[in-house]
Amino acid sequence: MHELSITQSVVDAVVERFDGARIAGVRLEIGRLSGVLPDAVRFCFDVAAAGTPAEGARLEIDEPAARARCRDCTDEFELEDPIPLCPCGSAHIEVLAGAELRIVSVEVAA
Ligand SMILES: [Zn+2]
Repeated sequence: MHELSITQSVVDAVVERFDGARIAGVRLEIGRLSGVLPDAVRFCFDVAAAGTPAEGARLEIDEPAARARCRDCTDEFELEDPIPLCPCGSAHIEVLAGAELRIVSVEVAA
């Protein structure tokens, strides 16, 4: 499963960055256009974290809306649809945000 390997690399990155410290919580940002399903990541997180210092950590996921700019009318707008189309009808758009998957913050257990 796609999300399991993604979640595994998130857990690996957190554990490595905090050098084995006990992790209490992880906050992720998963853009609507990233192609990653937050529910699947939630589901995979406990499996991926099992046996690591992140086991039992709380997972929070932000899902920022995607933003794009039209190259024809220069309008900026929110993308609800994975098929990018400007309200003016142009498909000539640039995605500004929403394709990201990043670790926003990590809470280390006291
Ligand atoms: Zn436009």
